[in-house]
Amino acid sequence: MSNIVSNLSIILQRIEKACIDNKRDPAEVKLLLATKTVSAEYIKEALQVGQTLIAENKVQEIKEKYESLRDIRHTSHFIGHLQSNKIKDILKYDISCIQSLDRLDVAKKLQQRLEYEKKKIDVLIQINTSGEQSKFGVHPDKAIELVRSVSEFSNIQIQGLMTIGLFSAEAEKVRPCFRLLKQIQQEIIAEGIPNVNMHELSMGMSGDLETAIEEGATIVRVGTAIFGQRIYADSYYWNESQIG
Ligand SMILES: *Cc1c(COP(=O)(O)O)cnc(C)c1O
Repeated sequence: MSNIVSNLSIILQRIEKACIDNKRDPAEVKLLLATKTVSAEYIKEALQVGQTLIAENKVQEIKEKYESLRDIRHTSHFIGHLQSNKIKDILKYDISCIQSLDRLDVAKKLQQRLEYEKKKIDVLIQINTSGEQSKFGVHPDKAIELVRSVSEFSNIQIQGLMTIGLFSAEAEKVRPCFRLLKQIQQEIIAEGIPNVNMHELSMGMSGDLETAIEEGATIVRVGTAIFGQRIYADSYYWNESQIG
């Protein structure tokens, strides 16, 4: 037996407590399971006890686990770096939301493919709130411009923003990243751009979900605290130079 079910209950308690402490309705905050490197068997354990939202970072992993998870009800998001040449593949696997859209050229290709397949997709715009060169995401100063451009693609529906934030063991160092995401959300709302929703703020992970909830997260993405330590460093998934 794994510890997944007990880990999950600890996470759900942490989310609930953070909501109560910040006078937020726990129904406003969704738990997303970050399942990179986790086998379909373990993911199933979490789905069987009522979790419904999962996300992968690599198309290859979506593909590998797709058949095994097909017969169990869930929603899949994509939280990895989106490459143009993977768009066709990603649309095969019922991904309802791409949380990591950060470039206009990719958005353009996505729109073309969606038109061709007569499909629509939700996206979040990923913002690089930490200023770390290696991280993906549009620069905060360019966010509104990107949102404006993507809003013109009728098959792509923007639902909000996503950020990874500073990688730090201290939650307090991540807080300015979360605050910045919230601030950009407010600026975009004030622009009143047609065809743009800003209700989702995807931020916070295993180590800092309380801080993220305090700063307004509506989706927290948790991997390690549920499934255990991964063998690969996150840089394998997060850094441009490491993408194979
Ligand atoms: C892996 C990952 C997470 C989860 O991180 P943990 O520290 O394992 O909880 C969240 N967001 C993204 C984009 C990830 O790649």
